[in-house]
Amino acid sequence: MSMRLERIKARKVYNSRGEPTVEVDAWVSGCLGRAAAPAGKSKGGKEVMYYPEGGVDESIRLINGELAEKLVGVDASDHANVDEVLKKFDGTEDFRRLGGNAAFAVSLATAIAAANAQGKNLYEHLKIVDSFRLPYPLGNVIGGGAHAGRGAPDWQEMLVSPVGAGSVEDAVRANFLVHARAGKLLDEFLGGFTLGRGDEGAYAPPVKTEDGLRILKQAADEISDELGFRIRIGVDVAASSLWDPGENAYVYRTEGVKLSREDQMARVAEWVDRYELFYVEDPLDENDMDGFSELSKQLRGKTLICGDDLIVTNPRIMSEAAEKKAVQAVIIKPNQVGLLTTAMETVRIAHRHGIVPVVSHRSGEPPEGHLAQLAVAWGGKLLKAGVVGGERVAKANELLRIGELIGRDRMVSL
Ligand code: PEP
Ligand code: MG
Repeated sequence: MSMRLERIKARKVYNSRGEPTVEVDAWVSGCLGRAAAPAGKSKGGKEVMYYPEGGVDESIRLINGELAEKLVGVDASDHANVDEVLKKFDGTEDFRRLGGNAAFAVSLATAIAAANAQGKNLYEHLKIVDSFRLPYPLGNVIGGGAHAGRGAPDWQEMLVSPVGAGSVEDAVRANFLVHARAGKLLDEFLGGFTLGRGDEGAYAPPVKTEDGLRILKQAADEISDELGFRIRIGVDVAASSLWDPGENAYVYRTEGVKLSREDQMARVAEWVDRYELFYVEDPLDENDMDGFSELSKQLRGKTLICGDDLIVTNPRIMSEAAEKKAVQAVIIKPNQVGLLTTAMETVRIAHRHGIVPVVSHRSGEPPEGHLAQLAVAWGGKLLKAGVVGGERVAKANELLRIGELIGRDRMVSL
């Protein structure tokens, strides 16, 4: 069935950090789709450019003018048609003309409008899997790095995932309980803690990374015992933020130590064992793919080494990482590449190589839940979307709604 895009309109709104972003309304067969773009802070060096010179305002001007002229009338029933126009319109490798975030908002809003026009859910319209499953939520409980101020842990994120939960309700609830318990334990450890949080709703306490890991492990173990299913912890080291090429070292500001590449690998391996980390994102600098391969070999079967800044959702880099056996999981953040279809290509490559897709939020998010729909459409096994904070809870709540439709107990097998 042909479904023409009738109208498109962009405006400026704000993300969870209070930064301006692009929101797009698209109409297909009288049905509205609306979406806004997220923004990262600890970005990978090879991500597309979010906005052209002139910023958000220039993107909005282009969408409402020249781009609208090209897009109106396009058959949106096949999403590839829409993304093809966006790609041609921009014409650059890194989306510097239109802005990758502008392209993302147009791409997603149009897909939502087309899904609505066909009476489908977004996960059905954009599906690349044959049967739908629910991903386990992976959420940030204690954090630091680029997402918090001075004195917080050097590793960016200490994460929890209820990988043994039998239903989406149990899974979502478990993460809230672990978050609350970790706050209590931090308060005890510090002899008083404001419960202050960083960009993604994780506590940003004045502790070293290892203290945070020990406390999060205890919180996860206690709640796991209470609920009767397995809850595991993981990390996003975001090691590119620690790597200082001038020093040729990973610089830990809160701890006041500098680690060589070898010492960094040794520390990761030691803490994977000590804290039973099931997931380790970006343990090394994004330019050290060989190091990822070495760590993957050493830790095979114990943990999932995941590439975020390493791969930046780019299909070409995904293929290279798969060939070099550098990762067992990959972060999928569509705005790192601008278009949904490009992100889908990366997901397909990951599936072909048995690499776990982890569909992920950014530190600056709009308060909407579409990401959960994308995770289900693409066979994401983990949905990395934080735990608390309205813009994070929006994704968890959307997962609960999808559970009503496909079956609350249809969890992925990890
Ligand atoms: C991340 O590194 O996984 C992350 C969510 O950070 P940001 O959005 O700031 O790039
Ligand atoms: Mg990351």
